[in-house]
Amino acid sequence: MQHKTVAFSKKSSNLFFHILTKCNLSCSHCYINREQHGDMTLPFDTIRDWLGLFAPKAPKTNLVLLGGEPTLHPDLYLVVREARRLGFRSITIDTNGYLFHNILDKITPDDLDFLSFSLDGATPDTNDKIRGKGSYDAVLSGIHRAKSKGFSCAMIYTVSDKNIHELARMPALVKGLGIDRFFIQVIGMRGESSTSSDTLQVSKDIWLGTIPTVAEKIAAQGIVVAYPKVFLSDGEPFQCAGNVSDNYFVFPNGRVYKCPICEDFPLHSHEIINNRLMALPPINETDLFKLTIPEGCVMNKMIQPGNLTYDTDGKPCHRIACCLLKQELTP
Ligand code: SF4
Ligand code: SF4
Repeated sequence: MQHKTVAFSKKSSNLFFHILTKCNLSCSHCYINREQHGDMTLPFDTIRDWLGLFAPKAPKTNLVLLGGEPTLHPDLYLVVREARRLGFRSITIDTNGYLFHNILDKITPDDLDFLSFSLDGATPDTNDKIRGKGSYDAVLSGIHRAKSKGFSCAMIYTVSDKNIHELARMPALVKGLGIDRFFIQVIGMRGESSTSSDTLQVSKDIWLGTIPTVAEKIAAQGIVVAYPKVFLSDGEPFQCAGNVSDNYFVFPNGRVYKCPICEDFPLHSHEIINNRLMALPPINETDLFKLTIPEGCVMNKMIQPGNLTYDTDGKPCHRIACCLLKQELTP
């Protein structure tokens, strides 16, 4: 099994495209902030034009289509086909499992690299408390339907204080599901989570005591596993992806961010205006990327400092990695 930290590189790019913000669920940790990003569903023509803005670098760009729930978009199949025509390096749909508009009948496994299903518990009880009644069954049935048609499937488990106790049961659950990739995510304190009165982030000890072991067990089943580093070890260099890699988080109101932790604020560095991708004047997220602090990620300290601890001299006990820095296990 190969363990590696996926280094940031300008040679590859990621485009996270929220084609709408509407959703059939209302997860307690939903990261969509409609005050900031509106409730628009982009028409297909606009999506096609905006994809075209990124087309020159399509061969090095991994495209992830998101919402809200992207399968609520009646033209998602046209979006996928257009993205394939433009030659994106990979195309993924992130879904909550409900697979609206018969999407599986309108595209083929050749059109799409991955269908990525979000599940936040190993039992319906835990998952559905977070994501809504019936959502656990929707994910499992969605995976079975997608696999039976030959699609490659992935799963995303967003870890918080509410569900980390069930992560150790995930290796048994995924056995036999036929998924190809498993992503462990860390709860971001944005959208609904930012207003929660509960402590949602898990401590360093719990994170490091749980995540790598579970990741190993899942990877041992032949599944590629990725999870965010979160806590940098002593001597590990800190890098801000905003400075050294090429990621875009696009929202239907035209805002384009390079850092997902900034999404609750009008700090976006770019905006699509009249079908042109425009860099915005200061002050925006790029001004924050340049700051160097002993805690590592600046936005983490500003937005979600619950994962920081300090010694008696006021020095941080550890540094927080860029939220986009991943550890990957390849079987
Ligand atoms: S987290 Fe995803 S599935 Fe849940 S309410 Fe938000 S957009 Fe919908
Ligand atoms: S999470 Fe932190 S380190 Fe990563 S892009 Fe955002 S500000 Fe930079």
